[in-house]
Amino acid sequence: MAADPVSVLQRIFGFPDFRGVQRDVVSRVLAGENTLAVMPTGAGKSLCYQLPAVMLEGTCVVVSPLIALMHDQLRAAEAVGIRAATLTSVDENRAETRGRFLDGALDLLYVAPERASTADFRDLLDRGKVALFAIDEAHCVSEWGHDFRPDYRLLRPLLDSFAGVPRLALTATADAHTRADILEQLGIPHEGMIVAGFDRPNIRYAITPRDGTTRQIVDLVRATPGPGIVYAQTRAGTERLAEALAVTGRPVRAYHAGLDPAVRAANQAAFVASEDMVICATVAFGMGIDKPDVRFVAHAGLPKSIEAYYQETGRAGRDGDPAVAHLFWGAEDFARARQRIGEVEAHRQPGERARLNALGALVETAGCRRRILLAHFGEEAPAACGNCDNCLAPPKAIDATETARKYLSA
Ligand code: ADP
Ligand code: MG
Repeated sequence: MAADPVSVLQRIFGFPDFRGVQRDVVSRVLAGENTLAVMPTGAGKSLCYQLPAVMLEGTCVVVSPLIALMHDQLRAAEAVGIRAATLTSVDENRAETRGRFLDGALDLLYVAPERASTADFRDLLDRGKVALFAIDEAHCVSEWGHDFRPDYRLLRPLLDSFAGVPRLALTATADAHTRADILEQLGIPHEGMIVAGFDRPNIRYAITPRDGTTRQIVDLVRATPGPGIVYAQTRAGTERLAEALAVTGRPVRAYHAGLDPAVRAANQAAFVASEDMVICATVAFGMGIDKPDVRFVAHAGLPKSIEAYYQETGRAGRDGDPAVAHLFWGAEDFARARQRIGEVEAHRQPGERARLNALGALVETAGCRRRILLAHFGEEAPAACGNCDNCLAPPKAIDATETARKYLSA
């Protein structure tokens, strides 16, 4: 008799039960059906393929866009005793990994899309047994997505050549247009899409025009105890903010790609361990870090998209306790974004423009922020959430609205 998924979940992963839509996703996968799981960051997407990987005969091939992400996943999988390996240019044990795959001794094999689409890799898979294809960060397959990777487009022939092997695409960040595109690009039927709830009711959203000083962020830090992240738009901006925040008396560190790797790692480790540190970072910070007690996320400028905003603010309050997400924006952010859009390839401009307009609608609304955010992810929400700036203090008609409109039209 086949094992019961919940008992495997408890025995191998040590979790008492599935969370949210995990059960639905896992049962589709175990039934051999092609599936797209749209689940917010932290919802537990990895489990949706790791559990079937353990239960099914053969190896689950996981396509993942970043080597660092793959190695994090590998460590996590090995920690619970799953037989896993990565096959990347930096792995020196590639021959051994191929051998383990051919021997049927791997539950999970992580590869990057550019390797997955080679004839060499297909030949390897032909000689072993593939149980499942998991395509992580599946929005990368869509030009409508915010992170298009042409290599993801090359996966389809591989998937199609293993006709009996189910495919599971996973993403945290896909608006309706991008989702439809993922389904089409990866050959997943519409009824195969499972969307988890995106609401994070414990996060209080606030969005305010910038006053051109660091005073607003200083005030926010003073008013909000506990660990916090301040996202700046440039490396210099993170350093400037870190200096300005010294007046709060809180421990403050900067984090950006220009720092010495050892310093960067030390700053991240210090933040993860701290109960009151503020880290001033570029958006590179936060990927793959698991810190549940972040009490606030501030943006010192406009994020790249609503998806990016949701993902970045979603790093606050993962423990379910109250947390704050405060965005400070300026009209010049929109001007700069519009200029950037003018510089990208013509076929990508409509998607980029739609993304910027969606952000504009979020910052300029006098209505509920959460409602707009959730509507973006296809979720209906009540007219007022009671836990955003506009619901808590309905605004009078402010001139910021006019400013935003001026920069959005034309
Ligand atoms: P995602 O990829 O969706 O952002 P992860 O797969 O990294 O999320 O999982 C986020 C966290 O949730 C991990 O620490 C994971 O161990 C935990 N988790 C996953 N499923 C469950 C579950 N059913 N019960 C409790 N914790 C879970
Ligand atoms: Mg993930």
